[in-house]
Amino acid sequence: MAFKFQGVDFLHLDAGFSEDELLVRRTARDFVEDNVIPIIEECYRTERFPRELVPVMGELGFFGATIDGYGCAGMSNVEYGLVTQEMERGDSGLRSFVSVQSALCMYPIYTFGSDEQKSTWLPAMAKGEKLGCFGLTEPGFGSNPGGMTTVARKSGDEFILNGEKMWITSGNIADVAVIWAKVEDKDHKVRGFLVETDRPGFRAYEVHGKWSLRASVTSGLSLQDVHIPATNLLPGTGGLKSPLMCLNQARYGISWGAIGAAMSCYDTALQYAKARKQFHNQPIASHQLIQDKLVWMVTEISKAQLLSLQVGRLKDAGTVGHQHISMAKRNNVWMALECARISRDILGANGITEDYPIMRHMMNLESVKTYEGTHDIHALIIGQHITGSGAY
Ligand SMILES: Cc1cc2nc3c(=O)[nH]c(=O)nc-3n(C[C@H](O)[C@H](O)[C@H](O)COP(=O)(O)OP(=O)(O)OC[C@H]3O[C@@H](n4cnc5c(N)ncnc54)[C@H](O)[C@@H]3O)c2cc1C
Repeated sequence: MAFKFQGVDFLHLDAGFSEDELLVRRTARDFVEDNVIPIIEECYRTERFPRELVPVMGELGFFGATIDGYGCAGMSNVEYGLVTQEMERGDSGLRSFVSVQSALCMYPIYTFGSDEQKSTWLPAMAKGEKLGCFGLTEPGFGSNPGGMTTVARKSGDEFILNGEKMWITSGNIADVAVIWAKVEDKDHKVRGFLVETDRPGFRAYEVHGKWSLRASVTSGLSLQDVHIPATNLLPGTGGLKSPLMCLNQARYGISWGAIGAAMSCYDTALQYAKARKQFHNQPIASHQLIQDKLVWMVTEISKAQLLSLQVGRLKDAGTVGHQHISMAKRNNVWMALECARISRDILGANGITEDYPIMRHMMNLESVKTYEGTHDIHALIIGQHITGSGAY
């Protein structure tokens, strides 16, 4: 038996949101309630990405939501955060898809791309007619992408790409891959390239057997002498800073998304605890230890909401630092994973079944803790900021 989501607003933060922000959240929440909740357990069980929802999400303006023009919604960063929160209340895999399409593909095209690249890709990606993936991680280089071995060699008016990418979200369903490679010249700088996935020499293979993010497509990419026109280079890219700027966008959305997963777990546990009776026919919610767990969760969720909201307001004001985003991603994903574990405990045996969303969120959050900078790498990023010493 599933419960209808009640929302979590212990600190009355809703009173401070604008009408537009509340409208965006309501739209995303209704979309998830009507379209995602009814099918997500089946998708998860059968390892299926619900592709049929892509055009609907495009119509609602969820892709490239913060971009102005090109058919995008031009939302504020706080509004976009509320969208990712609601998406991940549904499932982290769905939010991952939105993050990759928006923050890791449309953002670099918009920020680093030529006018022609922008007009070719952005309007179609906003509608969900064209899908993207982001290839940074390699089998041998995850936390340390600067070690990448994928290379791009200039030959006349083409680049020729060779290399392997791993753990790439949406790799098998993408029309275009944003591939990060070192250019074989005197500088060996990392640059971004738009690689159409039907080019000879490009191959995507799906990673199966995941116990996490099962409703999301994860792939390995192989590039063997892939020829692309020199005009497919993203001209504004130069150095590792460029992909890290994209990751910052995505990490920001994840910080909100994790709140959504945590709210789903907490809300389920709260409603369950009020209904479930043990000892003297009393609801377990009336026992002190259960209350302590519920209080821990609502307190941590409230703190996470404040953190993401403040980072979002800084981002909208143009004053956010990458260290702020690292703190929000690191804290909120940890908090959500703890909420999933505590909620599972409150549901007892029922907590391990697919009748409730908790185990699914818990398994998803293990990936979310690792990708986009692991929990510990974010500690090192923040540590470097406050001490001035890099400890990688
Ligand atoms: C489901 C999923 C989807 C993904 N999607 C994408 C995608 O779309 N595009 C993409 O490019 N990548 C993607 N990734 C890859 C992801 O970003 C990497 O997994 C992540 O960066 C960590 O790299 P790694 O797995 O190689 O771990 P490693 O870098 O090998 O780290 C292993 C452990 O060592 C720790 N560690 C590493 N270095 C240090 C250090 N200096 N000090 C202390 N501890 C350290 C880490 O914190 C971690 O605990 C995805 C991953 C997953 C699981």
